[in-house]
Amino acid sequence: MNCIFCRIIAGEAPGEILYQDERVTAFRDIHPVAPTHVLIVPNKHLASVNEMTGEDETTLGHLLTVARLVAEQEEIQASGYRLIINTGPHAGQVIHHLHMHLIGGQRMRYPMG
Ligand code: AMP
Ligand code: ZN
Repeated sequence: MNCIFCRIIAGEAPGEILYQDERVTAFRDIHPVAPTHVLIVPNKHLASVNEMTGEDETTLGHLLTVARLVAEQEEIQASGYRLIINTGPHAGQVIHHLHMHLIGGQRMRYPMG
Protein backbone atom coordinates (compact mmCIF):
# COMPACT_ATOMS: atom_id res chain seq x y z
CA MET A 1 0.00 0.00 0.00
CA ASN A 2 1.86 3.12 -1.14
CA CYS A 3 -0.86 5.69 -0.39
CA ILE A 4 0.17 7.73 2.67
CA PHE A 5 -3.44 8.44 3.68
CA CYS A 6 -4.38 4.74 3.42
CA ARG A 7 -1.42 4.05 5.70
CA ILE A 8 -2.52 6.67 8.25
CA ILE A 9 -6.08 5.25 8.21
CA ALA A 10 -4.68 1.75 8.81
CA GLY A 11 -2.47 3.00 11.67
CA GLU A 12 0.67 2.09 9.71
CA ALA A 13 1.94 5.66 9.34
CA PRO A 14 1.96 8.36 12.02
CA GLY A 15 -0.98 10.73 12.14
CA GLU A 16 -2.81 12.65 14.85
CA ILE A 17 -6.20 11.04 14.41
CA LEU A 18 -9.04 13.12 15.90
CA TYR A 19 -11.93 10.94 14.78
CA GLN A 20 -12.38 7.56 13.12
CA ASP A 21 -15.32 5.31 12.34
CA GLU A 22 -15.96 2.54 9.81
CA ARG A 23 -16.27 4.98 6.88
CA VAL A 24 -14.24 8.10 7.63
CA THR A 25 -11.02 9.24 9.37
CA ALA A 26 -10.01 12.77 10.44
CA PHE A 27 -6.41 13.70 11.25
CA ARG A 28 -4.35 16.88 11.51
CA ASP A 29 -2.58 18.23 8.43
CA ILE A 30 1.22 18.08 8.90
CA HIS A 31 1.64 21.56 7.40
CA PRO A 32 -1.21 23.54 8.95
CA VAL A 33 -2.16 26.80 7.25
CA ALA A 34 -4.35 27.95 10.16
CA PRO A 35 -4.72 27.17 13.90
CA THR A 36 -7.09 24.33 12.99
CA HIS A 37 -6.25 22.35 9.84
CA VAL A 38 -7.72 18.88 9.73
CA LEU A 39 -8.10 16.45 6.82
CA ILE A 40 -11.24 14.35 6.67
CA VAL A 41 -11.00 11.35 4.37
CA PRO A 42 -13.05 8.33 3.32
CA ASN A 43 -11.43 5.10 4.55
CA LYS A 44 -12.01 3.68 1.07
CA HIS A 45 -9.29 4.77 -1.35
CA LEU A 46 -10.71 7.08 -4.02
CA ALA A 47 -8.10 9.14 -5.89
CA SER A 48 -10.36 12.18 -6.17
CA VAL A 49 -13.96 13.33 -6.58
CA ASN A 50 -13.56 12.30 -10.23
CA GLU A 51 -13.49 8.63 -9.12
CA MET A 52 -16.62 8.70 -7.00
CA THR A 53 -19.77 6.84 -7.97
CA GLY A 54 -23.30 6.88 -6.57
CA GLU A 55 -22.18 4.17 -4.14
CA ASP A 56 -19.86 6.66 -2.45
CA GLU A 57 -22.48 9.37 -1.91
CA THR A 58 -23.37 8.36 1.64
CA THR A 59 -19.75 8.13 2.72
CA LEU A 60 -18.83 11.45 1.16
CA GLY A 61 -21.90 13.07 2.72
CA HIS A 62 -20.64 11.68 6.04
CA LEU A 63 -17.45 13.75 5.58
CA LEU A 64 -19.61 16.81 6.28
CA THR A 65 -21.09 15.33 9.44
CA VAL A 66 -17.57 14.57 10.69
CA ALA A 67 -16.41 18.07 9.70
CA ARG A 68 -19.17 19.53 11.87
CA LEU A 69 -18.19 17.24 14.75
CA VAL A 70 -14.48 18.11 14.53
CA ALA A 71 -15.33 21.83 14.25
CA GLU A 72 -17.26 21.47 17.50
CA GLN A 73 -14.35 19.61 19.18
CA GLU A 74 -11.95 22.34 18.00
CA GLU A 75 -14.36 25.03 19.25
CA ILE A 76 -14.53 26.81 15.90
CA GLN A 77 -18.14 26.00 15.10
CA ALA A 78 -19.38 29.50 15.97
CA SER A 79 -16.40 31.48 14.63
CA GLY A 80 -16.57 29.56 11.37
CA TYR A 81 -14.39 27.51 9.10
CA ARG A 82 -13.78 26.59 5.48
CA LEU A 83 -14.14 23.16 3.84
CA ILE A 84 -12.13 22.51 0.68
CA ILE A 85 -11.77 19.48 -1.61
CA ASN A 86 -8.99 20.06 -4.15
CA THR A 87 -9.47 18.02 -7.32
CA GLY A 88 -6.83 17.74 -10.04
CA PRO A 89 -3.92 19.91 -11.19
CA HIS A 90 -5.66 23.29 -11.39
CA ALA A 91 -6.78 22.92 -7.78
CA GLY A 92 -3.28 21.88 -6.68
CA GLN A 93 -4.24 18.39 -5.49
CA VAL A 94 -1.02 16.66 -4.43
CA ILE A 95 -2.29 13.68 -2.44
CA HIS A 96 -4.34 11.35 -4.58
CA HIS A 97 -6.62 10.05 -1.86
CA LEU A 98 -9.79 12.14 -1.71
CA HIS A 99 -9.69 14.47 1.31
CA MET A 100 -11.62 17.41 2.67
CA HIS A 101 -9.63 20.19 4.36
CA LEU A 102 -11.25 21.71 7.45
CA ILE A 103 -9.56 25.04 8.09
CA GLY A 104 -10.38 27.55 10.80
CA GLY A 105 -9.35 29.40 13.93
CA GLN A 106 -8.59 32.61 12.05
CA ARG A 107 -10.35 34.79 9.49
CA MET A 108 -9.97 33.27 6.01
CA ARG A 109 -8.68 35.25 3.08
CA TYR A 110 -11.15 35.96 0.30
CA PRO A 111 -11.85 35.83 -2.62
CA MET A 112 -10.83 32.32 -3.48
CA GLY A 113 -9.32 31.38 -6.84
P1 AMP B 1 -3.96 18.77 -1.41
O1 AMP B 1 -3.23 19.89 -2.07
O2 AMP B 1 -5.42 19.08 -1.24
O3 AMP B 1 -3.72 17.42 -2.08
O4 AMP B 1 -3.39 18.72 0.06
C1 AMP B 1 -2.68 17.66 0.62
C2 AMP B 1 -2.47 18.00 2.07
O5 AMP B 1 -1.99 16.84 2.72
C3 AMP B 1 -1.47 19.13 2.32
O6 AMP B 1 -2.10 20.15 3.08
C4 AMP B 1 -0.36 18.43 3.12
O7 AMP B 1 0.21 19.25 4.12
C5 AMP B 1 -1.08 17.25 3.72
N1 AMP B 1 -0.26 16.09 4.04
C6 AMP B 1 0.65 15.49 3.23
N2 AMP B 1 1.19 14.42 3.84
C7 AMP B 1 0.60 14.33 5.06
C8 AMP B 1 0.75 13.45 6.17
N3 AMP B 1 1.61 12.43 6.16
N4 AMP B 1 -0.01 13.69 7.27
C9 AMP B 1 -0.87 14.73 7.32
N5 AMP B 1 -1.06 15.59 6.29
C10 AMP B 1 -0.32 15.40 5.19
ZN1 ZN C 1 -5.40 5.95 -0.19
